[in-house]
Amino acid sequence: MTTFSELNLGPKVMKAIDEAGYTTPTPIQAGAIPPALEGRDVLGIAQTGTGKTASFTLPMITKLARGRARARMPRSLVLAPTRELAAQVAENFDTYSKHVKLTKALLIGGVSFKEQDQLIDKGVDVLIATPGRLLDHFERGKLLLTGIEIMVVDEADRMLDMGFIPDIERIFSLTPFTRQTLFFSATMAPEIERITNTFLSSPARVEVARQASASETIAQQVVLFKGSRKDRQAKEKRNLLRTLIDAEGDACSNAIVFCNRKSDVDIVAKSLQKYGYDAAAIHGDLDQSQRTATLQGFRDGKLRFLVASDVAARGLDVPSVSHVFNFDVPSHAEDYVHRIGRTGRAGRDGKALMICVPADEKNLADIERLITKEIPRLESPVKAEPAAVAPAEAASTEEDAPRKPSRRRVVRRKEKPVEATSEAPVAEAAPEVPQKAEKPARAQRSSEDGRNGGKSRGRAGGRGRRDDNVVGMGDHLPSFIALSFEERRAG
Ligand code: AMP
Repeated sequence: MTTFSELNLGPKVMKAIDEAGYTTPTPIQAGAIPPALEGRDVLGIAQTGTGKTASFTLPMITKLARGRARARMPRSLVLAPTRELAAQVAENFDTYSKHVKLTKALLIGGVSFKEQDQLIDKGVDVLIATPGRLLDHFERGKLLLTGIEIMVVDEADRMLDMGFIPDIERIFSLTPFTRQTLFFSATMAPEIERITNTFLSSPARVEVARQASASETIAQQVVLFKGSRKDRQAKEKRNLLRTLIDAEGDACSNAIVFCNRKSDVDIVAKSLQKYGYDAAAIHGDLDQSQRTATLQGFRDGKLRFLVASDVAARGLDVPSVSHVFNFDVPSHAEDYVHRIGRTGRAGRDGKALMICVPADEKNLADIERLITKEIPRLESPVKAEPAAVAPAEAASTEEDAPRKPSRRRVVRRKEKPVEATSEAPVAEAAPEVPQKAEKPARAQRSSEDGRNGGKSRGRAGGRGRRDDNVVGMGDHLPSFIALSFEERRAG
């Protein structure tokens, strides 16, 4: 087994590793650190949770400790798909570089340009950014990428899902071709393969086993549920969710509720709050301070239910939770493994409950194929109302009188519960979306970088034209792609 002392990391980095309590490098660290220290490009195929952040930060710090930053010309760049992931990478740098004098700047949406500009002006060794925000700075003429010695692309497959590949290609073209590239992706989709073939030079390929099975300590169940009528299904699903939560009683100390769509994250969180559950939402359209406060509250045990989208929750280092509720069946089977992996950590028991409506049955079959087992069925504790009930009648039968949840900690109900058709205000604020998951789920991701609060800027030209509906490359083809590989390297 490789030890850290065999990896040739700098003594100050070794000291920080020791203080972090790490005894042995993880497989991705053992595989990626040596070629990275030699200056080679690295293609790391690894997921969050494998220790991949340290596999690029540790060699970067060792290498950067040798030089000095120049004004407006950062020496290294780390690109991450979401603000939270970028912030997490920045935290990792703080931990591992505490005995080395390195300057860093975090360029993410929701933080003022002025503060970030001041840091860049002084000169930074490490720039950590989401792609959109980085290009915003570049376009404002505040930043030069010609001094980049090391560039990291983290979670490239998420970048693809979120429509950032054109941005990534543009950023690659703005950095010197002599740079060293460390590129990480959980999967190698054809589009990712193309990018790595184009921008990486004979990389060391380090692949760690993909996580296709969930911990044995997680009890999994799925409820097959069909609403009494299609237009009532979403509302009835929320009722079912509350019933499932209540049935768990005190055993459910804290939980993450996953939804596929941002609009549902909001609706479900508001609905839970209205019924007296201590819940808050986290997704890319919320402002940064709100997201940070919500996460911190959840980490500190002050918030019981975190309602999240995959992108917002992905890679976040949250402590183990007692329960995961999948309000929707994820449309990517691997997301199921990630989602439920939030519970049952470190050998503790955990429970994962999922609601599956008829339209999601194909996705359920994909998940069961991936985890090679059938998820036990739980009979729905809620019977859908008879379809014959007239709409007006139906509206007054169900959600008009909030029940007491089995257990409340902090009741966050600021506004009075709305009477009669109580779900109406929520539904109006964020209308229900059709159940077909694949397209909306992917489209949603394109805005979770959180630039401009996720709003499209409507700027003319390639990047500015992209909006929430762009998937993968969108309709944008940067001009340099049309050039041959040699021309690009030369340029
Ligand atoms: P990551 O995959 O980078 O998100 O890392 C997942 C978690 O593993 C983080 O909480 C790290 O602090 C932790 N970690 C990283 N490297 C090691 C190591 N060599 N030994 C123990 N824990 C580690």
